[in-house]
Amino acid sequence: MATYDPRSAPLFGPGSMLQLIRSGDGTTRAELVAHTGLARSTVAQRLDQLFAHGLLREAGESESTGGRPPMMFAFNHDAGVILAADLGATHARLALTNLGGEVLAEETGEIEIARGPEEVLDWADERFHVLLREAGRGDADVRGIGIGVPGPVEHATGRPRNPPIMPGWDAYPIPERFTDRYNVPVLVDNDVNIMALGEYWMQWTEMDHLLFVKVGTGIGCGVVVDGAIHRGADGAAGDIGHIRVAGPQADDVTCACGNVGCLEALAGGRAMAARLSSEGFAAADSRAVVDLARAGEPAAVQLVRESGRLIGEVLAASVNFVNPSVIVVGGDIAQAQEQLLAGIREVVYQRSLPLATRHLRIVRSQLADRAGVIGAAVMVIERVLSPAAIDAAIAAVAPGERAFAAG
Ligand SMILES: [Zn+2]
Repeated sequence: MATYDPRSAPLFGPGSMLQLIRSGDGTTRAELVAHTGLARSTVAQRLDQLFAHGLLREAGESESTGGRPPMMFAFNHDAGVILAADLGATHARLALTNLGGEVLAEETGEIEIARGPEEVLDWADERFHVLLREAGRGDADVRGIGIGVPGPVEHATGRPRNPPIMPGWDAYPIPERFTDRYNVPVLVDNDVNIMALGEYWMQWTEMDHLLFVKVGTGIGCGVVVDGAIHRGADGAAGDIGHIRVAGPQADDVTCACGNVGCLEALAGGRAMAARLSSEGFAAADSRAVVDLARAGEPAAVQLVRESGRLIGEVLAASVNFVNPSVIVVGGDIAQAQEQLLAGIREVVYQRSLPLATRHLRIVRSQLADRAGVIGAAVMVIERVLSPAAIDAAIAAVAPGERAFAAG
């Protein structure tokens, strides 16, 4: 994770103090005094504020070098909950997490994103309510809502932008659908970005730069630079599915986007399913490709490997450009078997510059189907626990009231 620099905050308020404690940079009074340069009495006052608002807990005594061992402080992950949704084209996963991104309750459901925002979001809202009840929490415990959708999103407003597979969703104000009931931040991003964030936050925060490649029906990439999602000027960063692949086989294939030779049109799950169908296999979608490959069907195994090589070509160029420490490969097809990763590794290590691959790791997603909901929750946690948000939340409540519930 990008190192938090407390000097960049306007004041060393309680929010900055909490950030130091969450990052592990300051867990005792002495460490916090050393990091902030504040007087001991001021640090004590800030800690009292954080305790009073339910944000801290005592985490035992640290190793003593003589004398009374100092008390250690930790963030109270149970100071509230986050509602998270990962909405796909035909499948959704919902979760309730604590403020550490730990899943407390979850469920999956079949949806049709193409039936439009009213129907899909009504369903999500109703199921959120059930998850809260199951976990013994109420609406007032909810600190924020994070939602991932299978299309481009204007992150600042939470509105989808000309999403190709989401008819009826263009410019629909998703956050407004939830703010009436909960009055908390509602953040929306595309599914690949939230998966990248989830994977990064749970496994790779010691790295600064990561690429997350989703290989499902289509192909997309989430880009983490300096510990944060890089969205680009219009939210289109990482759209590697529509980069043109070199080679004669690319010239014959027209993509859904209208261009010829796109990576997705050659190596995506839908393309592979179509190819296997034309060869006489029962392969309706990317999941059928996974099933055939897992069963060891040679045509499917070979196709997945070849798909990996094509993705590797585009990633080799991306590696030279971004110089990530790790590439995480997720999505349905990544769960098929090792052939996809093998194909990607083969080409990336062969084609990228040695300097860019010297420390590069290419791994399979560890969170698998859960990467999206965890990332959606993390996106919100980082917002609502930011120093400015904490200071504002504490300033907004009347004396004697708590800004956060105690868990
Ligand atoms: Zn295309």
